[in-house]
Amino acid sequence: MSVNYLYVDMNSYFASAEQQLRPKLRGQPVAVVPVRAETTCCIAASYEAKQRGVKTGTAVHEARRLCPGILLVEARPHEYIRMHHRILRAVDSCVPVQAVLSIDEMVCRLAGADQSVKGAVRLAEQIKAVLRREVGPYVRCSIGLGPNRMLAKVAADMQKPDGLTVIRVAELPERLHALALRDFPGVGPRMEQRLLGWGVTTVKRLCELSAAELARIWESKLLGQIWWHRLRGDDLPDPPTHRRTVSHSRVLPPEWRDDHHAGEILLRLTEKAAARLRHLGCWTGSISVWSHDLGARAWQEHRRLSLCQDTSTLLSVVGQLWRRKPAGRPLKIGVVLSDLVESGNATPSLWETERKLTALSHAMDHVNQQYGAHSLYFAALHDVLHEAPTRIAFTNVPDLDLADA
Ligand SMILES: [Mg+2]
Repeated sequence: MSVNYLYVDMNSYFASAEQQLRPKLRGQPVAVVPVRAETTCCIAASYEAKQRGVKTGTAVHEARRLCPGILLVEARPHEYIRMHHRILRAVDSCVPVQAVLSIDEMVCRLAGADQSVKGAVRLAEQIKAVLRREVGPYVRCSIGLGPNRMLAKVAADMQKPDGLTVIRVAELPERLHALALRDFPGVGPRMEQRLLGWGVTTVKRLCELSAAELARIWESKLLGQIWWHRLRGDDLPDPPTHRRTVSHSRVLPPEWRDDHHAGEILLRLTEKAAARLRHLGCWTGSISVWSHDLGARAWQEHRRLSLCQDTSTLLSVVGQLWRRKPAGRPLKIGVVLSDLVESGNATPSLWETERKLTALSHAMDHVNQQYGAHSLYFAALHDVLHEAPTRIAFTNVPDLDLADA
């Protein structure tokens, strides 16, 4: 009984999704790009393209050089989100999904007979079979099985594509010795530099360190403890996390880089943030808007609010804050809602008008959910309705039932 976690990581997710959805892309080197432009980067590459050296982050011109004839496909976020929900349902039909970590990664906590190596492997094979049947054979995954969540993820990364890897407690720490420091989630380029600076050049050395030594390197007693235990396969509860902000930002296309148009887009971003806030069941206690203008210092304006979740109040505050911005040529703009409070802890407003505005926002959400995105919207947003398309963040899967074009 040592396999506590099953980690599912979809392989080359966006590229595989396109190959599943469009048969003529199958078996071809494919790269998914956010926009059709030579200056952009690939956000996913099919295995055929990966064999030629194209990776996530490869510039388009470089991808063409490495892999002449590569097929560049513009990303279709809504298709990937829709498929994500199908994948989630398929996995969840085999074993309850404990957490969705990104659009293509999820983790399950195992129980009972599934915790034996044999049971866990059988379950992983069943998940792969259900995914093939319910989502399609071109969307493959690597499954990692491990005694804790970190090691299950590490196991999932060990074999791609279509992997199935078990890390057993009895094999620790030797099983990890062949890995690179960067193979551990939480060790990015900066952390790697710190480790090297302390003379930790191998995973073998990392595993030999005491909790106190790890704490010194991580500059945190808690993190030192956590790492020491994780490397030994102990299953510690995750430290509690709280959602602290809801934010949206956008790089403006050249024709919108003036204060007037940018202000309109900012309202659209605010509308989206407000809808997301309500969807999460939260209220915001403060709002910031910011802009990076060409050739100027970054500008930001912040205001505290009495707890609020209605779109019209937020739009009007954002409009006021934006008017204080020095004239310039905005390149990237954004809005951040912070000091969030969950509905259960929020006291309803004393003011009838505020209560009515909140009710109005919820009614609009309801109509838009029922009759489709933008069935109802504020007139101020009419010109920019389609100017803030859904972006896929790897760590934050948009909810499909949110009104969004
Ligand atoms: Mg993946």
